[in-house]
Amino acid sequence: LPPARRPYTEPETRHDLGRMDVKCRHCGALHWMAEKIAKSSETNPQYGMCCNHGKVVVERLEEPPAELQALLVDNTTQAKEFRKNIAQYNTALSFTSLGVTEDHSINNGGGPPIFRIHGELCHQSGALLPSEGHKPVYAQLYIYEPQAALDYRMENNTNLQRDTMEILQRIITEHHQYAPLFLHAHEVLAAQPADDVSVRLRVAPGVHARRGNLPTANEVAVILPNQPNTEPRDIILRRRNGPLLRISDLHPAYTPLYYVILFPHGENGWHPDL
Ligand SMILES: [Zn+2]
Repeated sequence: LPPARRPYTEPETRHDLGRMDVKCRHCGALHWMAEKIAKSSETNPQYGMCCNHGKVVVERLEEPPAELQALLVDNTTQAKEFRKNIAQYNTALSFTSLGVTEDHSINNGGGPPIFRIHGELCHQSGALLPSEGHKPVYAQLYIYEPQAALDYRMENNTNLQRDTMEILQRIITEHHQYAPLFLHAHEVLAAQPADDVSVRLRVAPGVHARRGNLPTANEVAVILPNQPNTEPRDIILRRRNGPLLRISDLHPAYTPLYYVILFPHGENGWHPDL
């Protein structure tokens, strides 16, 4: 019989790789010695799977703004309430929505909350203005005056604290690099006579020329007119109506547009041109 078809027998001795404590000298990732590139030596082990020999450099995230940092670590009543409901605060402030069928039945008993879904998870973006008779949500709220936006956010989340939401809304509006872009896209679209026009959000082309570097804050993303033959990964923004559109998980803004509390500055996430 070929080995894979033989009955399983417990090996007599355990296969032991030792400790996973060998640091890549470029990025500091921890590895097992056995993972080293075969031709490198044990005194100077080289690894390809983490940073590809130092070729990929991912900059550290910026420190969160002081007010957010305080909410994340302080022991005040306000900070504790924030951390208890942090996922709900995040959803109230995110630019995109989660397209997912969640199974709530599993959380009826005690124990830690479980996030169980049916099918696939994706991030979606809708029109920049709510359709007739609907309240603004997600990116739409960044087009509104801050007071009105705060009112809508609290209306949808009556169990959350208004003063905390106000702090977070101000932080994201001031610091998140994509916040002004949505406003700009709205201005571009508002200048068009038709309601069904769209624009595209793409990370600036200059970024790709500098391989090995994450785009920095000032070379972020641009709003482009919607034309045929454009990048399939672009995020499409419309003024009004139309379906929710799925955002490619290869777009650099995929992560920061949803996880705004983890990425208050809106630093770009993973993308294939890193
Ligand atoms: Zn490395």
